[in-house]
Amino acid sequence: MNPKIVYYEEESLNYPLGKNLFEKFKSAEWIKIENHNNIPELRNNPNCEFARMKQNLVIGIRKTHKYVPNSKISDFLVPYTSSGCSAMCLYCYLVCNYNKCSYLRLFVNREQMLSKLIKTSNQSCTDLTFEIGSNSDLVLENTITGNLEWTIEHFGKNERGYITLPTKFDMVEPLLSLNHKGRTIIRMSLNPQEIINKVEFGTSSLTNRIKALNSIKEAGYKIGILIAPVVLVENWASLYIQLFKILSETLSQKVKNEVIFEVIFMTYSYVHRMINAEAFPNAIDLYDKNKMTGRGRGKYCYNPIARNEGEALIRAEIAQHFPENKIMYVV
Ligand code: SF4
Repeated sequence: MNPKIVYYEEESLNYPLGKNLFEKFKSAEWIKIENHNNIPELRNNPNCEFARMKQNLVIGIRKTHKYVPNSKISDFLVPYTSSGCSAMCLYCYLVCNYNKCSYLRLFVNREQMLSKLIKTSNQSCTDLTFEIGSNSDLVLENTITGNLEWTIEHFGKNERGYITLPTKFDMVEPLLSLNHKGRTIIRMSLNPQEIINKVEFGTSSLTNRIKALNSIKEAGYKIGILIAPVVLVENWASLYIQLFKILSETLSQKVKNEVIFEVIFMTYSYVHRMINAEAFPNAIDLYDKNKMTGRGRGKYCYNPIARNEGEALIRAEIAQHFPENKIMYVV
């Protein structure tokens, strides 16, 4: 990433990471802000500026550190070193929280966040799992900050608990030689290449995500696969059949021995529709009135008929190609 403008909270430059980022991007224009949560000149931009705003960087200090209990793949969702993302998936869940301001925000107080993580982990008499990537893509963030490498090494020295994160990126090379001690779980989020091309703008290709997953397994990490989100485009059935065929042919045996699947169907919203129509007028329209139904507060999900058909096909493909592997959940 090479931002033209960096918005920053003044105090963030007192932190080592803030100083590093200042050196790294000193040729950018730096604009002082009061609060990373509220930058009026960005908030007041029209929706058509969405993609341009994603090229900016925001640097601040994370003030809220509340862990949210979770029961899917982890025990807690943890607010960690970034929020938002510089990629532009048309369905991105972060748009529901941040609307058009879902650009990448980096938080420099990483020592404070890691120390809470380790303390909470050590206070528990059981091994807790912390989802640290629910607010951004930490593999992508790591290319700018090195935060994920730093976290994996430090958390690896701990004797209790696990951290887990999903990603749609292949830049895992810097993670391969780390002393993770088996305490980090990296889950690769996969979709058919045609859906990546049409919907997941700025993310890694399917082939590269698969290669990255094979290498992180080879490096001894615990791994998982998210089929997420399942998008029921016109030719969805043939695309997902093809996806599972590719996976069965290209995933390494070590991945196949261990992998657990998570399957998540796409949730869309009125806000996504408005932003995407203005920001990406030539992109595919993900809202399909024949297949979707309202889900409260301006959200849409697939109706029971479409959803059941999708779920049946995905379950059948997993059963055919990965008969020994578990599906953790389908939502
Ligand atoms: S990679 Fe993840 S966080 Fe980034 S835009 Fe896509 S869905 Fe959102």
